Amino acid sequence: MPAKIAPQPGVMEIALYVGGESRIEGRADVLKLSSNENPRGPSPAAVEAAAAAVARMHRYPSTDHADLRAAIGEVHGLDPDRIICGVGSDEVLQMLCHAYAGEGTEVVITAHGFAMYRIIAHMVGATPVEVPETDRRVDPDLILAAITDRTRIVFIANPGNPTGTRLSDADLARLAAGIPPTCLLVIDSAYAEFAAGYDGGASLVEAHENVVMTRTFSKLYGLGGLRVGWGYARRDVIDVLNRVRQPFNLSLPAIDGALAAVRDRAFAEACIRENAEQRARLSGGLRQLGIACDDSEANFVLARFADAAEAEAADAHLKSAGIIVRRPVSYGFPEALRITVGRPEDMTRVLEALAAFREVAA
Ligand SMILES: *Cc1c(COP(=O)(O)O)cnc(C)c1O
Repeated sequence: MPAKIAPQPGVMEIALYVGGESRIEGRADVLKLSSNENPRGPSPAAVEAAAAAVARMHRYPSTDHADLRAAIGEVHGLDPDRIICGVGSDEVLQMLCHAYAGEGTEVVITAHGFAMYRIIAHMVGATPVEVPETDRRVDPDLILAAITDRTRIVFIANPGNPTGTRLSDADLARLAAGIPPTCLLVIDSAYAEFAAGYDGGASLVEAHENVVMTRTFSKLYGLGGLRVGWGYARRDVIDVLNRVRQPFNLSLPAIDGALAAVRDRAFAEACIRENAEQRARLSGGLRQLGIACDDSEANFVLARFADAAEAEAADAHLKSAGIIVRRPVSYGFPEALRITVGRPEDMTRVLEALAAFREVAA
């Protein structure tokens, strides 16, 4: 018998998640571009719906999210019975690990993959197995080579965060086809709406028994603070996930806010358009300043500097101009800064600050 109570295996392996910074001491004009949030905020319709729901908060919320799932299904052309909603897509990812992984199993993640994958693998006592990426891109062959008979889940983000790159539909299909039936491929499509012509992996969910797509209201819809995400999978997988889901996981304001947000297509489409324009402007402006970046298919750009010292200096300069971006050191990019795409005036401010940084450095 151990002398005292101890946490389950894996729990103490978890390094606490570090979110994007939001404050600069002594400044009121802070521009926060560190968490890939919608620079336009939430849709006014979502604000109104969530606020109205607050007045009814003595009531328990729906347990099956039927209205929200129906709206998501309608907008995306998907079967609502195969949708599951979570407290952010993070909770859907967690339900997947809870239900399918555990002690003695492996979860494959990629070198620059989202930090939550490693955290939730450890939560259930599974072993995260990290696979390299090739030129800041998820590599299907390296992933397939890493799968063993203990692998239960492969997590990829497509488009990736913080890379912003996306696998071609052909490569994604090849990856899905190569995953053994004893393992799930989870395509985390948190940024799918920003990638033109991409269905988030929905067609691969239709084609394979073991592919799951996850989506979120936190990025395009500007509801990161409300915590709503969803997953799409085969009916039997959804049935499994519903068993490990808390019945009242989504609050009343969260359900109503997300429902109004997904129905406000005009707002969503205007945000997608503006993001594409400002993303092109930001990447073009960075390259003009001699700062490298890949073509992003998300709502951020990974700006690559000569080395970690230069990235740190650029970060400090941006902070002195009141701009907070993300230093993705823990994602394996000490030489880079991840900059969320903002409004036109935000991008002007960033590019002017970086131009000034270049002049000081020259
Ligand atoms: C932001 C993000 C999510 C979304 O998380 P939520 O829990 O839905 O807020 C998921 N995956 C990736 C890669 C992200 O960057």
